Amino acid sequence: MSGLGRTVPAGSDRLLVGASDAGQGFLNLDWTRTMTNSTHLAVIGGGPGGYAAAFLAADLGMQVTLIDEAAHPGGVCLYRGCMPSKALLHVAKVLTEAREARAWGVEFAEPALDLDRLRAWKDGVVGRLTGGLGQLSTQRGVTYLRGRAELLGPTSVRVTRPDNPDGDDEPVDLTFTHGILSTGSRPALPAVLSLDSDRVWDSTRALDLPTIPESLLVVGGGYIGLELGSVYAALGSAVTVVEMTSGLLPGADRDLVSVLARRLEGLCQAVLLETTVVGLAEDGDGVRVTLQGDAVAHSEQQFDRVLVAVGRVPNSEIPGLERTAVQRDARGFVMVDGQRRTAEPTLFAVGDLVGEPMLAHKASHEARTAVEAIAGHKAVFEPGAIPAVVFTDPEVAWCGLTETQAKAEGRSVQVTRFPWAASGRAMTLDRPSGVTKLIIDPESEQILGVGIAGSGAGELIAEGVVAIEMGATAADLRLCIHPHPTLSETLMEAAEVFFGQSTHVYRPKRAPRV
Ligand code: NAD
Repeated sequence: MSGLGRTVPAGSDRLLVGASDAGQGFLNLDWTRTMTNSTHLAVIGGGPGGYAAAFLAADLGMQVTLIDEAAHPGGVCLYRGCMPSKALLHVAKVLTEAREARAWGVEFAEPALDLDRLRAWKDGVVGRLTGGLGQLSTQRGVTYLRGRAELLGPTSVRVTRPDNPDGDDEPVDLTFTHGILSTGSRPALPAVLSLDSDRVWDSTRALDLPTIPESLLVVGGGYIGLELGSVYAALGSAVTVVEMTSGLLPGADRDLVSVLARRLEGLCQAVLLETTVVGLAEDGDGVRVTLQGDAVAHSEQQFDRVLVAVGRVPNSEIPGLERTAVQRDARGFVMVDGQRRTAEPTLFAVGDLVGEPMLAHKASHEARTAVEAIAGHKAVFEPGAIPAVVFTDPEVAWCGLTETQAKAEGRSVQVTRFPWAASGRAMTLDRPSGVTKLIIDPESEQILGVGIAGSGAGELIAEGVVAIEMGATAADLRLCIHPHPTLSETLMEAAEVFFGQSTHVYRPKRAPRV
């Protein structure tokens, strides 16, 4: 039956290897005939939530159908989010380091950019990753159904593929025992920022690398604005960032953000806080932007391109959702319990669709919880620490309780900091401006939160997650031998600071205030 040397899962006896995607290593449906099929689990949406759910369910022996409109699983993260942006941020870092190398006695010629090759390389990364997911899907016996899903009820879905290259848009109806909704999110576009123009980009368009604008206005100083703003600044654009709140990355601890903010001052043309865009209009060969805010010298400014990155909204307008008991909250997020079950007992929901933080790794873990629950295992999604990483240069990362949160909750914590200027490894990298901090319970000495700003913070934060999840105390972290010379030592030394005994900073422990 299967041209790929695989057996089609039981109950799917009318499935065939699709002609349209043959050669891509996929088990696809033959769209030339109407089918009625059944499956244990239907997963709608093939991003990091959806494919993680589908793969684990298959590993647990379930018969799984994964539905998505794209040619391969991957979702926003792989196609137009995490992966292409990280490929470009890598290039940005190389460019920056090549320029900085002058100070180290190494001189390169000015880099020459070939935008077509850069784009092709980035697309190649995405292609290899999504293709790899396709293979993993096939190896596990997951049926990948390419098309758009419409719920017919709590246990059935119709999938159509209007753009089927074979010209056949006959729908496929599928019944399932359980369903997982993982349709993700899309960029928010408030009316004041929506202008039907090639010059106004969302993150997807910016990741296409259509051009390197001479001047770029980034609206929103959050994850996307700062990551993509950094990319374009490194590629040569004069970047202005406007952020409506009083600081970049609202919610993150200010001492971490200030490490990045100082560097952005050198990289960007301007960073305007407490500023909003109140008007956008196409004007000749640019966009005329009306800005409002105390820091604004000229309220009317002209930019080649505008990137809007002011948050994301859930894709919860799933066709047919009204035929189920699934509930949504005021912001449109699907409401779920600790196992990620919706108000409709057969349907679960995970990822950006169910709320903040909108992070791929949160989606994958929720997905695994939902599948475990469906399999009848005891499972609940109650993480002690979800790491957040902003992949700028330097990176900013945190997990668990933040100092900001502790203050807001009036919670008594002790915060210890290890400045990277005291790290030999940071000096060898010429990046002494970072900081590693621990948020510690003064009574139990347990580590409640970790924050890091500096090169590689996104890798280093994983140790903080393990420490928090394992209930480690400051003494545990101090007693673990960390390799020298590495940046990981900054975590150990931040714990030593707690005891007033850090080898590389002199900061005696103060007697507790009485
Ligand atoms: P965000 O919520 O991180 O940042 C949006 C920023 O825009 C905020 O600082 C907000 O105050 C500001 N803002 C909102 N309206 C504005 C306006 N009219 N004018 C000026 N500023 C305005 O959202 P994002 O950067 O669009 O990213 C969306 C989500 O995607 C994030 O919440 C994050 O979870 C996820 N993401 C994660 C990563 C990562 O993990 N590295 C990277 C990119 C995106």
